[in-house]
This record gives sequence, structure tokens and C-alpha cells, in this order.
Amino acid sequence: MTKKYDVLVVGGGPGGTPVAMALAAAQRRVLLVERGAGLGGTCLFEGCIPSKILYESAQRLRAIRRAAEFGLCLSPGEPHIDWQAIVARKDAVLRQRAQWALDRAQTIPALDVRFGAVALLNPRRALLKPASGEPYEVEFASAIIATGSKSVRPAVPGSGLARVITSEQVFDLEHLPRSLVVVGAGPVGVELSQIFAAFGVRVTLLEAGLSILGQVDEEIARMLEVRMLHQGVSLVLDARVTRICHAGGGAFVQYRDTAGAAHEAYGEYVLEVTGREACTEELGLENTAVRYDRHGIRVNHVLETDEPGLYAVGDVVGQPMFAHWASAQSLVLAHYLLGQPVRFPEPAVNAAVIFSIPEIGMAGLTEGEARKAGHEIEVVRYDFSVDARAQVAGHADGLLKVVYERGTHRVLGVHALGEGIASIMGEAALAVGAGITMEALALIIHPHPTLSESFALAAHLVPTSVFIP
Ligand SMILES: Cc1cc2nc3c(=O)[nH]c(=O)nc-3n(C[C@H](O)[C@H](O)[C@H](O)COP(=O)(O)OP(=O)(O)OC[C@H]3O[C@@H](n4cnc5c(N)ncnc54)[C@H](O)[C@@H]3O)c2cc1C
Repeated sequence: MTKKYDVLVVGGGPGGTPVAMALAAAQRRVLLVERGAGLGGTCLFEGCIPSKILYESAQRLRAIRRAAEFGLCLSPGEPHIDWQAIVARKDAVLRQRAQWALDRAQTIPALDVRFGAVALLNPRRALLKPASGEPYEVEFASAIIATGSKSVRPAVPGSGLARVITSEQVFDLEHLPRSLVVVGAGPVGVELSQIFAAFGVRVTLLEAGLSILGQVDEEIARMLEVRMLHQGVSLVLDARVTRICHAGGGAFVQYRDTAGAAHEAYGEYVLEVTGREACTEELGLENTAVRYDRHGIRVNHVLETDEPGLYAVGDVVGQPMFAHWASAQSLVLAHYLLGQPVRFPEPAVNAAVIFSIPEIGMAGLTEGEARKAGHEIEVVRYDFSVDARAQVAGHADGLLKVVYERGTHRVLGVHALGEGIASIMGEAALAVGAGITMEALALIIHPHPTLSESFALAAHLVPTSVFIP
């Protein structure tokens, strides 16, 4: 007999899981289908969490190397890096988090979690092929597609050869390579280049554009480029990869600059991180009116596809591709489907951190984006070289920029580069999301000495700042 549900959710990542749990908690009969081995998606198994576990090891290693500056005498010599132990720690955290997610899901009686693949037969019926056992059909009143995204490989000969890997494989390398060529200086390419360079790997980072991190404030991206060079990352801009060839125990990456000159870089591994595309294959979307391309499924302002009753959230609907964005969409969609008044997330108030070294924090609009959107703006800059907390921590280096509207003094964007900046981006998001003024920010008492103080100190720099919120 065909099983019937109120809602089918396809994909158990940060996009699919929250909406499934919230709807089931409100007594909707929900089927959540995940084709991987556990709940958590790219974020848990191949993205945010494994990359931040490696980042944590890299940052601790950097701190140990600077111990003498802080009056700590460790035995001389370079600390030994046990790559297998780093990978084992990562696996333990991943297992624990996946188990926790499953345990939580199983506390909700109306939520049926199945592992397997799902293909839509029509807008209200799907075939579920479980990881073990016979396929069977299910019926549902509505469905939510949250199948995420996957790496796109560059269309050059040699891309995809053995030793030419993507972020899906990099966290499980058998050993730490001696050299690595990273193709693509987006957030993932930058983060991984700096992590591996900190581990002592010879890293060459090739970027086709004329700067790294296209979506980041230009001045901040330039500042990071300089720091990367100091950390030993060989950053090559204007490098268009033309071919990858095997050589000995690694590969040569051939590339050209805009003048047409040919160059090459060698790596024991080549890591291709040139973008991501929506996972729409084998879903049976052709049996529905859903419209999509490689950038994502087309949705309207309430995340409904061209097929009424079929919704999509997270990476599968395209940029911005962040875990917190996917889960924010997911939770708002749940409230919407439950008939509650909601406001869907808007990119203009999104916040994000790039876990570069030092970190980059972004909330709301950059100077360029704000001008493009027609705002008359001012920008206030706070230099971390004068910041008490940054000096105490030995990282008195970095910049905080607050973009605000000229007439109203409303905060439109916060963009920063600095060690530890990740921890204060929640406040930046709050300032942008709530549209608070520079005067209100200046009046808020921030504890001393913390990095969060930088917001108030930046607000005090506004020339016309009057202390009336
Ligand atoms: C290396 C890396 C680092 C990252 N770091 C960060 C970070 O620090 N912070 C941040 O916010 N974001 C980060 N991201 C991005 C983040 O991982 C994604 O934005 C987020 O996972 C998107 O969530 P999602 O639920 O839309 O998709 P996913 O997490 O990709 O989940 C989709 C799920 O759907 C399942 N699925 C796909 N097809 C089917 C099917 N046919 N049937 C059943 N199940 C299916 C997949 O197995 C997967 O589990 C990073 C990404 C990468 C690659």
C-alpha cells in the first residue's frame, strides 16, 4: 500500500532538516529522505565542519609557533603534525554530530526519516529507493527539495584525473601532501590554501580573476592577499588553467595569463574549487513543472517552484550558498507552511564569515553594493592596530568598516578582517538586520577588553555622532 504523508522533504542537510523537524513538531506527517549515510549534508560531512576542524588545528599550530612571544618556552623544534590524528578527530566530531541529529529527529513521532534516494513520479507521488530493501511509492500533499550543491570541475583536459581532487575528497587524504595546487580563490580555496600552508604544505593558489574572493569588500580582499603571501601561499592572479597532466607522484597545472604567456605549477595533489552547482539530477524534476538550470531551481519570494505545492530551499536554489542561509530559509518556510506570518531572508541582511587567516566577516552591503543599490553612504573605519583586545591577543592587525546611510545613519553593512572577527559577526548581523543607527551603536555598552568593543569605537568615530538613539 502507498504510504501517505503531508510533506516530503528531500535532503537532510541544513536546508532540509530544520523544516522537516519544525513541520513534524507541529503534527504534520513528514517524510525526510537523505541519500547519504547520515543527517547533516555537505555542511557536516564535506563542508563547514570538517574545514573548521582543520582550521582549528592550523590555528593552534600557529599559536604554538608564536609561544615564545607570549613568554612560553616550549622545547625547541617544530611541532609534529599527525595528519591521521587530525582526520580521526574530524571523523569523531562528524559521527557525534550526525548521531545527535538523528537522535533528535527520532524524538519527533510525526517525522519519518529514511535513508535512500527519491525520484518524483509526478508532483504528488515519488519512488523511494531505500539504502536497503525494495523501492516503494509514497504520496504527499507538498514537497520541499533541499538537495544542496556539488563541486563543479573546470572544463579543461586533465580535470578529474587521479590526484586532481575536489573539496569532497580533500578532508580524507591518506597523508599530508608536500605540495598542493589549489585552483580557484573563492572562500573554500582561500580557507584550504591557508590551512595547508600552515601545516607546512607548499601551496600554489591559482585564480583566474584579478583579485581573490570576488564577493568580498575589495580593500579587505587585497589586505588578505598580502597576508597570504606572508604566510607562504604562492598566490597567482590572472591565471587561467588550460590543462592538467600527470607527472611522477603528482600533477602539473598549466595556465596562461591575459597576455597569453604560458606557465605551470606542480603539486602532489591538485584541488579544484572553482564553484558549485545545484544537485538536481535523478530527482524526477522533469515529471513536474519545476524549472531549473545548473545555477539552481527557480523559486518565487516564498520559495515555491513553478510547480504549486513544491518548494525548494538552500544551495539547490543558488546563491548565497551558506549553511546558516539554508537553515534560515528552511525555518521561515516551515512557519509559512504552518500559516504563520513570516519574513523570508533577504541577501541584503545576510551575514557570513570566511575562515581565512585572519578571518573575514561580512554582514549586509559592501560599499560597492550599497552605492549600486542607490544608497548615499558614509564609511567609518576602525583599525585593529589600536584595539586593546587585539593587542593583548597579539593580533593587532586588521580593519573594521561600517557602511551607513548618510541621512539616517542606519547601519547598512559591516565588513572586517581580523583574528577572532567571527565571534563578533552576530552583533554585526543584528545591527544590519535591525537597521540600528550609528548613534544607537555608540550608546550600547560593550565589555572591555573585547573585540566587540570595536563596533562602539567605530561608531564614536562618526563625525556628527550625537548620543541620541
Ligand atoms: C568546503 C566547504 C566549506 C564550507 N564552509 C562553510 C562555512 O564555514 N559556513 C557556511 O555557512 N557554509 C559553508 N559551506 C557551505 C555549506 O556547506 C552549504 O551552504 C550548506 O551545506 C547547504 O545546505 P543544503 O541543505 O542546502 O545542502 P547540503 O548540505 O548539500 O544537503 C543536501 C543533502 O541532500 C542530499 N541529497 C541530494 N540529492 C538527494 C536525493 N536525490 N535524494 C535524497 N537526498 C539527496 C545530500 O546527500 C545532502 O545530504 C561550505 C561548503 C564547502 C564545500
